[in-house]
Amino acid sequence: MEEFIPLKEGEAGFYGCGPTVYNYAHVGNLRAYVTHDILTRVLRERGYRVNHVMNITDVGHLSGDGDSGEDKMVKSAAERGKSVLEIAELYTRAFFNDTDRMNILRPGTVCRATEHIDDMIGLIKRIEAAGFTYAAGGNLYFDIGRFPRYGDLARLRLEDLKAGARTDLDKNKRNPGDFVLWFTKSRFENQALLWDSPWGRGYPGWHIECSAMSVKYLGEQFDIHAGGIDHVPVHHTNEIAQSEAATGKHPWVRYWVHNEFLVMDREKMSKSAGSFLTLQDLTDQGYDPLDYRYFLTGGHYRSQLQFSWESLEGAKNSRKSLADRIHSLASRAKPAEPAPSSPALRRLSAFNEALDDDLSTPRALAELWGLLKDNAAAPAEILWTVLQMDRILGLRLENALEGGQEQNQEDPALRAEIEGFIVRRAEAKAAGDYERADAIRSELKERGIILEDGKTGTLWRRIESL
Ligand code: AMP
Ligand code: ZN
Repeated sequence: MEEFIPLKEGEAGFYGCGPTVYNYAHVGNLRAYVTHDILTRVLRERGYRVNHVMNITDVGHLSGDGDSGEDKMVKSAAERGKSVLEIAELYTRAFFNDTDRMNILRPGTVCRATEHIDDMIGLIKRIEAAGFTYAAGGNLYFDIGRFPRYGDLARLRLEDLKAGARTDLDKNKRNPGDFVLWFTKSRFENQALLWDSPWGRGYPGWHIECSAMSVKYLGEQFDIHAGGIDHVPVHHTNEIAQSEAATGKHPWVRYWVHNEFLVMDREKMSKSAGSFLTLQDLTDQGYDPLDYRYFLTGGHYRSQLQFSWESLEGAKNSRKSLADRIHSLASRAKPAEPAPSSPALRRLSAFNEALDDDLSTPRALAELWGLLKDNAAAPAEILWTVLQMDRILGLRLENALEGGQEQNQEDPALRAEIEGFIVRRAEAKAAGDYERADAIRSELKERGIILEDGKTGTLWRRIESL
């Protein structure tokens, strides 16, 4: 446990690794983004101006994190008979549709890998000038032997890396842990996106995008970097090596936040293995996206969390009784700020202490329940405090103040519905079914919603605001 001390007073620079958009996010991925969301919300509530940056991986991510396997985007596009950019557009939109429905606030900066190739080339040039690279077999590699701190984050030892080397390894590598910065001799003849570079026409390795974009938007050193626990031994280890080799500054990142996995039947849920649940699968079974958010909040981000339909059902029931209690209090009182040293404020302090203690959402949730059951607290003060707590929990508890949880939700619900239409239209377009795509556009128009296709995707607005 460490105290958070930002580089610049009052500010928090935060980079969270974003999705690889070759398929829908699975509910395990969404655990990572809820963790990032809780972290940003806590920092904001503590008065920091949070500069939250998230990348969208639309190039270069192979199915094995260490330069092995197939290119995820290329494979998905080939399977669906579409271009890589069409696939990226479709699943990026689907991703934000999911995160919006889970009340995950959008990062201030969302950056696509394919729009930052120049930044990546620029950073690779610096790594090369500092002497950390070699060319072999047409690719440019990072030489981990030249970087003594390599593997410190994961406590990896070079000897173990060598001993653990697999036989199918890339023969061009001097060290099994070396990794590709730039591919020119494509491993994949069908690689669709290629760019010119000082090392030849090709495409970037996966890790360089996060180094290049975080340095661009947050500076050569910044406060917090987050991602799933699987990123510790390879992706984040390589990001550190690249960034510190390029800038000569250490530490590149001051604090790392890694969420544990959501597991199903004791196995990690995985997009590339093809067996996973999406948020849509949960809503198809009658669960609200916020039931799933509540379920995730019940676990500590650094502990594995077992998914089961029974526990999701439990979360749904708990969220319902939470809303019922709030609703019944609201029929008797209006939210009012508690008097100093009132029981409600004591609960709020305990709630905040729990979150300041390594984001303990389970304890925070227990404080929320304690508050709602606290007979010594005045209803008006309970309601006010609940709303304060929900600024971090993000369960949209304000909807329960009037008419129970399903009402007074027109805006978020409408937004989610329109986003759903846009995803289906993009799917129809990707499948070549333009008739259906146009039908969806017309249906929305009849309801007063105009769609506009732009470079970064489809936006919508109401006709009356024309
Ligand atoms: P990806 O889209 O595969 O690049 O992964 C997006 C994020 O989800 C990364 O931060 C991963 O570490 C994280 N992640 C992947 N699988 C899981 C899981 N089963 N539980 C929690 N987080 C995960
Ligand atoms: Zn990353």
